[in-house]
Amino acid sequence: MSVSVSGAAAEKNPWRSHTARICTITPETPGVRTYELELEDPVERDHYRFAAGQFNMLYLPGIGEAAISVSSDPAGRDTLAHTVRAVGNVTDALARLGPGDQVFVRGPFGTPWPVAEMLGRDVVIVAGGLGLASQRAAILFLMAERACRSVTVLHGAKRPDGLLYGREYDAWRAAGVAVHTIVNEADASWSGPVGLVTDLLTDSLRDPSATTILCCGPDPMMMGVAKAAIGRGVATRDVFLSLERNMACAVAHCGLCQFGPLFVCRDGPVLPYERIAELLRIPQV
Ligand SMILES: Cc1cc2nc3c(=O)[nH]c(=O)nc-3n(C[C@H](O)[C@H](O)[C@H](O)COP(=O)(O)OP(=O)(O)OC[C@H]3O[C@@H](n4cnc5c(N)ncnc54)[C@H](O)[C@@H]3O)c2cc1C
Repeated sequence: MSVSVSGAAAEKNPWRSHTARICTITPETPGVRTYELELEDPVERDHYRFAAGQFNMLYLPGIGEAAISVSSDPAGRDTLAHTVRAVGNVTDALARLGPGDQVFVRGPFGTPWPVAEMLGRDVVIVAGGLGLASQRAAILFLMAERACRSVTVLHGAKRPDGLLYGREYDAWRAAGVAVHTIVNEADASWSGPVGLVTDLLTDSLRDPSATTILCCGPDPMMMGVAKAAIGRGVATRDVFLSLERNMACAVAHCGLCQFGPLFVCRDGPVLPYERIAELLRIPQV
């Protein structure tokens, strides 16, 4: 069995969940909350490592498991953040829990954003809605590393109240990250641009041949971003997408997340666009 994980716990036994306590719950946008979890076993807590873009399976006994990106700083050792939208069995049940309650964590799993290879490059992070949850860890990593030439975050949401992590933008900007937001539908509170996140791309591509795109959101949005970026001179090999597919085992056994010849849980979720462009064009793969 080939298991693409980097955490010590998952390398030992990818099926084993570890208990964690909810330390804090931060409301983000309507129906979306960030849970700071502390692994209860101090040894597990010490050994747990993840890379930006990886995910955990959060398990609630008697209810089920859901794949959720780890959205905290990969250098953080105390707690693990997960930003969750309540949409179904597990996530609705999570929304009924409070600080001090217990959840089970299995992971980390999957491929990370290639943030360790960004020396001297312009990195443009493009996020649709909750997609930013999978990229927050990459933003925090790049802010700390300071190895790339520039970091730009382009974040689009349907409405202004769907923009994620708004309270953190000042800190990101203070650390040199350019943050631009756009919404599909404005309301009275909004004075920024209205349109699609791709509308923000042109102004952010100063040197396309030295630019890497990290994109997460609905498939049609990601395909639009990839095409627009490549059309403006970004190399196909420098565009990375994070796919979301229903998954159950997270270790390439059950086949639920099969995507052509790939298993999104093992070969993804982060994949180079050049590897999946053809598959994305086939409906219902
Ligand atoms: C790699 C990866 C990372 C992810 N990261 C995050 C993250 O950071 N945050 C986040 O919130 N989500 C994330 N997700 C998505 C999350 O895993 C899914 O939303 C998951 O299905 C939620 O589990 P659930 O049990 O709450 O929902 P489920 O009960 O599985 O329901 C999920 C959806 O399916 C619909 N549904 C359920 N049952 C049926 C049915 N019988 N017929 C028709 N429709 C049905 C529900 O209405 C809902 O829209 C990620 C997914 C992947 C693959």
